[in-house]
Amino acid sequence: MSESLTELAVYEGQTLTPTIWGPDAVNTPMIRHWIETMGDTNPIYLDDDAARATGRDGAVAPALMTQVWTMRTFTDKMADNAPSQVWTDLIATLDNAGFTSVVATDSDFEFFAELRPGDRVSLTEVIEDISEQKSTGLGIGHFVTTLKTYRNGDGEVVATQRWRTLRFKPKTEKAAAAEPSQGLRPRPALNADNAFWFEAAKEHRLVIQRCTACRTLRHPTGPMCGTCRSLGWDTVDASGRGVVYSFVVNHHPQIPGFEYPLVVATIELDEGTRLIANMTGVTPDEVEIGMPVELDWIDADPDLTLPAFRPAAREEY
Ligand SMILES: [Zn+2]
Repeated sequence: MSESLTELAVYEGQTLTPTIWGPDAVNTPMIRHWIETMGDTNPIYLDDDAARATGRDGAVAPALMTQVWTMRTFTDKMADNAPSQVWTDLIATLDNAGFTSVVATDSDFEFFAELRPGDRVSLTEVIEDISEQKSTGLGIGHFVTTLKTYRNGDGEVVATQRWRTLRFKPKTEKAAAAEPSQGLRPRPALNADNAFWFEAAKEHRLVIQRCTACRTLRHPTGPMCGTCRSLGWDTVDASGRGVVYSFVVNHHPQIPGFEYPLVVATIELDEGTRLIANMTGVTPDEVEIGMPVELDWIDADPDLTLPAFRPAAREEY
């Protein structure tokens, strides 16, 4: 074992987040907001009878909401947003060894038990694994895997989430240039399931993923059709027309790379899928739910292009 690896191994198993409890119990209002925004129409999340008909004791929370219940409140985050000392020390150790670049590689969620309104949820996070030095397309590096464990009030494991990043030595100037830096918008976490979407955006094409088995359109992108579970997919070009389904105006906290006040909208495309995007050519007080919009593009920097929407110039508006 090399010296640097010995130095890294001491971090394996260390706790990043001691057990913390979510601020609120699992509750119907938050479930309702979430499924309406996601467009999930499965009745088992709100209707006790529909849930009982599937063998459950009553309505359950969507599994994908597990993380939501333990998210820190805005006030907590503003009071203390520092990462844990263990994480700070690990990153400093990697930085000192030259592994200064980072890319997220995968997030692996597993669900073991369902949550119901009234359940409390706790979260614990540990550093599960730091790989040996690997040679990758980006350069040599170490894969760092953290493990989040979600438990209910009985201590039963509800879900686990493994989050893996590669900490590497950039081997080319291009890789170094792709690093987020002050003043640039944050980079999207690219992976095998979403890279095509961002690549198309670079060419100013807004694409929608389509199941090749049942033709259902879907967004956000993902490996499997939620309707028929097929893994086959292709894409269609969106018309670029839609309406404002919902929006917020972001004033604080202000992050470099964005202009404030910042309109963040959920756009419902004519094709039926929704996406989150910024709005252009409009002041925050002019934005209305239901407003027809059309596609625009934000070429944020040479490595990042994102779709945006401006008020439609259509006759019917
Ligand atoms: Zn399908």
